[in-house]
Amino acid sequence: MKENTSAWPAGIKKTRQRKCVFDVLEQAETPLSAPEIYNRVRNADASVWLSTVYRILDHFVSEGLAAKTSVMDSSMALYELNRNRHKHYAVCVNCHKVVELTNCPMEKFEPEIAESDFRVLGHRVEMYGYCKDCDKKMSGIH
Ligand SMILES: [Zn+2]
Ligand SMILES: [Zn+2]
Repeated sequence: MKENTSAWPAGIKKTRQRKCVFDVLEQAETPLSAPEIYNRVRNADASVWLSTVYRILDHFVSEGLAAKTSVMDSSMALYELNRNRHKHYAVCVNCHKVVELTNCPMEKFEPEIAESDFRVLGHRVEMYGYCKDCDKKMSGIH
């Protein structure tokens, strides 16, 4: 009965479509938007709907399996698996390219939190600007 997939998290009911979404997130190098995830899932399962992908992603987020990051505006929500090692990203506001940060801006940051017993579990940092290509394009317009 028990299917052994080491990567599949305990406590989440496994369905074929959930597994497809999970595999896409697991193989992704950068956070992906729901339509991007949908396109990749369709390679494995052409019968899946975008609404299904959204529902699975919401479920993954509510279970703490995946993290949802809204960049700039909510239409650009990106999803990634909650991995042990955390990463930050810079997003190009022009072409929406996502570039990984190789360090953590919070590494040496000492949070001062009004509630002294507050237990910090993590943090999010959002960087935005222009990628190399767009920056060239922008500075070319004068
Ligand atoms: Zn760009
Ligand atoms: Zn960090």
